[in-house]
Amino acid sequence: MTTDPRSLYSLLPSTDRLLNAGEFAGLLADFGHTQVVATLRQMLDDARAHIRQHQRLPAWCDNWAQAAATRLRDGCRQALRPVYNLTGTVLHTNLGRAIQSDAAVEAVSQVMRAPVTLEYDLDGAGRGHRDQALAALLCELTGAEDACIVNNNAAAVLLMLAACGSGQQVVVSRGELVEIGGAFRIPDVMRQAGCQLMEVGTTNRTHLKDYREAVTGDTGLLMKVHTSNYHIEGFTKSVSEQELVTLGDELGIPVVTDLGSGSLVDLSQYGLPAEPMPRQLIAAGVSLVSFSGDKLLGGPQAGIIVGKKALIARLQQHPLKRALRADKMTLAALEATLRLYQYPETLARRLPTLRLLTRSAGDIQAQAARLLAPFTARFGADFQVAVEPCLSQIGSGSLPVDRLPSAALTFTPRDGRGSTLATLAAGWRSASRPVIGRISDGRLWLDLRCLEDEAGLMETLLS
Ligand SMILES: *Cc1c(COP(=O)(O)O)cnc(C)c1O
Repeated sequence: MTTDPRSLYSLLPSTDRLLNAGEFAGLLADFGHTQVVATLRQMLDDARAHIRQHQRLPAWCDNWAQAAATRLRDGCRQALRPVYNLTGTVLHTNLGRAIQSDAAVEAVSQVMRAPVTLEYDLDGAGRGHRDQALAALLCELTGAEDACIVNNNAAAVLLMLAACGSGQQVVVSRGELVEIGGAFRIPDVMRQAGCQLMEVGTTNRTHLKDYREAVTGDTGLLMKVHTSNYHIEGFTKSVSEQELVTLGDELGIPVVTDLGSGSLVDLSQYGLPAEPMPRQLIAAGVSLVSFSGDKLLGGPQAGIIVGKKALIARLQQHPLKRALRADKMTLAALEATLRLYQYPETLARRLPTLRLLTRSAGDIQAQAARLLAPFTARFGADFQVAVEPCLSQIGSGSLPVDRLPSAALTFTPRDGRGSTLATLAAGWRSASRPVIGRISDGRLWLDLRCLEDEAGLMETLLS
């Protein structure tokens, strides 16, 4: 049965009538005339479109004030929303990588509220440079002579190459011409930086003599790239930084390394797989080492370059540095994060990334066991809820092969249907604080490694 659309259109209220209705007084006070009118106009447009398509009024026309309130509240919700990361990937690039320490949050909040000594030297009342304070800390933590900070490690690699290798040849092993997620490929970055790439060796094997034979009078740099997001096994050979530095010293050519993640502490002391440390490469004589601020370091998004004074000075003076420089909030968060490393005894407690990575499987298992009963009570009718062992990943290309033993709550639909599972996952993604899990093997997995706010999760999903 269809209704004449014209009679339906005539049922729509006018903006004025709605605005004068008593129920709108609260909305006008909270959101103001401009936003309320714009929302009502949009709702009327939507209602007319609905009538055209379906020959009936949309259901929400029963209560305009309530529908307007929902739209206005959704409209002022931040696009960047906090979520529960129960994917099992600790440094999840799509979820913003490292969560920040309390110290970093406090430091950022202070520099946001007041003028700060960003490029201001209080002693001489002259102009300092913005990386200075951090450079001293980074030198202490890595053994380097100086440091430079930019927006991310991709920018750091671009700046190193542009400032030290532009118009020259840069020698890299074929096995290290990596692509990092998001279309960052070493050969493309080389081109952008104005360097000529000289590939040496083969995908699986590169020898010192390959580098030696590639060097010409136009060679500006020998480069190593840490193959952070993949791993080649079997018949392989690569040249260590140490060996390359010996060759570089002999030929008078600097060696630079894109380390990717890089850890400032020896992770094996925490029972984690070892990851190369900037300090080791600096000790081996590498001239410049770049790494990310928000991967294993556990700080804000930033690119850090440490190394020899003369080369860092070239980076600082290059025009690209001005375009890629970090802002005061990044620098404040990074400084606070680096200061935590000065107190190694409390690092694993105060640095969230390390705290999450070092959670024991037993601890996570106990948490899963605590949550099993309340989740079964709530979801047990439609899903078989269980505690299962699982393996977390570090993420962000760090230590790609290694997995950390963990525990998950799993939800298997009793009707065996994928659509039931997808509906559950979608419902949780639209929760007041979205809960992000992982579907695999016909179940929804909530890896609890990154769950610190247990009460909050229960409130979100069970109340
Ligand atoms: C992650 C990574 C990058 C890019 O670092 P961002 O901080 O994400 O820009 C570059 N090189 C390597 C080897 C990496 O692992």
